[in-house]
Amino acid sequence: MELHLLSYSQGPAVPLLDRTIGEQLEHVARRWPDGLAVVSRHQSKRLTWSQLLDAADRLAHGLAKLGVEPQDRVGVWAMNCWEWLAVHMACARAGAILVNINPSSRAHELTYILNRSRMKMLFLRERDEKTDYAGLLAEVRGGGTFALQHAVCFGTAAWDGLLAETPRASSAPIALDDPTNIQYTSGTTGSPKGVLLTHRNIMENGYLIARVLRYTEQDRICLAVPFAHCFGNVIGTMAAVASGCGLILPNAVFDPKAVLAAVEAERATAIYGVPTMFIAELRHPEFKKFDLGSLRTGVMAGAPCPVEVMKQVASDMHCREMVIAYGLTETAPVLTMSEVDDDMEHRVSTVGQAMPCTELKVVDVETRQTVERGVQGEICARGYMLMQGYDGEPEATARVIDSDGWFRTADLGVMREDGYLNITGRAKDMIIRGGENIYPREIEEFLYTHPQIAEVQVTGLPNERYGESVLAWIRLKPGETATAEGIRQFCDGEIAKFKIPESIRFVESFPTTLSGKIQKFRMREIEIAEQGLEEVARRGTA
Ligand code: AMP
Repeated sequence: MELHLLSYSQGPAVPLLDRTIGEQLEHVARRWPDGLAVVSRHQSKRLTWSQLLDAADRLAHGLAKLGVEPQDRVGVWAMNCWEWLAVHMACARAGAILVNINPSSRAHELTYILNRSRMKMLFLRERDEKTDYAGLLAEVRGGGTFALQHAVCFGTAAWDGLLAETPRASSAPIALDDPTNIQYTSGTTGSPKGVLLTHRNIMENGYLIARVLRYTEQDRICLAVPFAHCFGNVIGTMAAVASGCGLILPNAVFDPKAVLAAVEAERATAIYGVPTMFIAELRHPEFKKFDLGSLRTGVMAGAPCPVEVMKQVASDMHCREMVIAYGLTETAPVLTMSEVDDDMEHRVSTVGQAMPCTELKVVDVETRQTVERGVQGEICARGYMLMQGYDGEPEATARVIDSDGWFRTADLGVMREDGYLNITGRAKDMIIRGGENIYPREIEEFLYTHPQIAEVQVTGLPNERYGESVLAWIRLKPGETATAEGIRQFCDGEIAKFKIPESIRFVESFPTTLSGKIQKFRMREIEIAEQGLEEVARRGTA
């Protein structure tokens, strides 16, 4: 009788770090006090590990003096900068919960997060090229009442005052299972949810990532991904704190040339990015001018990774140990990765296999039974890395974590015979544009506030540069007229730019099933044919 393996696997049980983020930071700062913790190129600022610990403890003391207590929420709203990292570490040392806010967020989104997170304090950049953060905050605060008591802009006297405190971490005990971070994601349904992550979740995830990538204090990660997302603040920051390797911030916003220049100037050994970023770097007209010979490894993640792009990164960027990571904010994030010494085929055309201390299974979407290897199903995960839950939303949490502790990713995948995973689709209605997740329902709900719109359906289209782009089909109220440009103007300043539909079609009706359910896949097919996107739609991914 032939024995069929089921799509279940478990990474090796290895000893974990067993330290809170604050303890680990202190450990690294004592071991390599003069080692580089971060260099922010656009700010011409460098901090060693001992300087980072010192800044974190001054800020922690300042937070305490302002009345921020352990488990209070503290937000950060800025593009990548050294201050972001300092506040992250300060929250960890103070036992406060860091709330990441996407720098692309606009009035409508900021209002939601201030309300839902009940944050007591917010750190922000006053303004940058793209955003007047302080102005937006003032506008939002003027329109409502929030728990927010203090807002401090980086670089102001108030900020300098906090940094001038005597260094003092919290004396209150901080447990591994205390929440330390809230990151907003929309989960599988409409409105964004706060993913409540503990020290154990993100510190151990960072530790295991560092272990797989064989980071030492000699390594330097070129970090083009935002701190506001788990790719930056866990795969980046937590892996660095776990290993003592340095973080290189090439610029505030993503700029392919700044990334290439940063790798060369700082002799980066690792490079991170979503597929769109690597595509932009590889295609940059000056790509060949930069010496990228210091690179050894790197991580591509966050969206389906094109096999061809992975191959080019491995060869043209000298990342011979390049790997793909797969996971979600809710799973700290990384669930699977390849080993750096796996052969090329495994590293470029799969997302790897279960990380240490991680259980994975692939189940039939209908029956919930584990399928045989080689058969597509929904990927589920269990282990130390699983979020504590969606902040204040026990029902939403129960919908994604079953009574046996299995988390439903709503991603479709195939576990190969050898245990390596391919991501084959999504059971959730989500668009990933250039690594940014977009929930159609959120945009639909916002567009329903437009006075002329009767019905709207949003979905994703294949896109050469961003992987996917946003498509909206709109039925106007009788007798109304509108233009695509007018609709986009309506969104401007209210929702993040990346969510504003690139393609808008005004229609009289939508493709539906016999039972009247709207078929978004048909909308997509029609647009692909109309816009001639068949070739882009066929690209192979891991
Ligand atoms: P986030 O919570 O923002 O980290 O987004 C998680 C989602 O990104 C997953 O549920 C996947 O749909 C997608 N994703 C992350 N990594 C990969 C990958 N390597 N390949 C394909 N999709 C990915």
